[in-house]
Amino acid sequence: MLTVVPTPIGNLEDITLRALRVLRQADFVIAEDTRVSGNLLKHFDIKKPLLSFHAANEHKALESILTRLKEGQKGALVSDAGTPGISDPGFLLIRACIREGIAVECLPGPTAFVPALVASGLPCDVFTFWGFLPHKKGRHTQLVQIAHSEHTIVLYESPHRLLKLLEELQLHCGADRPICVAREISKLHEEMVRGTVAEVLAYFSQKAVKGEIVVVVAGKTS
Ligand code: SAM
Repeated sequence: MLTVVPTPIGNLEDITLRALRVLRQADFVIAEDTRVSGNLLKHFDIKKPLLSFHAANEHKALESILTRLKEGQKGALVSDAGTPGISDPGFLLIRACIREGIAVECLPGPTAFVPALVASGLPCDVFTFWGFLPHKKGRHTQLVQIAHSEHTIVLYESPHRLLKLLEELQLHCGADRPICVAREISKLHEEMVRGTVAEVLAYFSQKAVKGEIVVVVAGKTS
């Protein structure tokens, strides 16, 4: 059995009781970065063997993890923060388990895009999660698609690329499109900056952008 275990995105109080129980009962923990997850487990006084599973080794690591799971061991999959598989490693392993007939479950828990979307105040009945846009190939095409979407769009972005993204959104969606930048969700310096693209761009142009960021863009209305 493989259990996907979401972990806090900034506030350790966001770990669920169920996540802690599953981690305690697991035979091994599959981690994106064993050091990061080792610290999390240590904080909650949980000692488990940690296996590394990240973008650079996921194909290679897959077989040995599948072997353990097929033997009946209980594996818990975690990433550095949030829900594995959401802009994080996980998909490959989950798909392989399903193909091999290994039971897979995912616990409900922390992920950055849900609080950003909900607190943005933009329509959240229908939305598209794009994660990180590609840096080069395909970026322009995706920006055009985003600009024409009638539904809310959710993007992940790194702080040092935020201004570039906001300038591109201004160009493609227009200066008046409502957006929200959610920064440092669940952390001490959490802020939600809501306004038009031009207003939010002006706000972030005045200071060094730091921390983790989700950008929520309103759909096109006309
Ligand atoms: N698996 C994670 C999830 O479920 O949200 C996402 C991992 S992805 C590698 C990291 C990105 O998620 C960051 O660059 C940022 O866009 C977003 N993110 C993660 N934590 C955040 C936070 N506390 N506040 C705002 N955005 C966050």
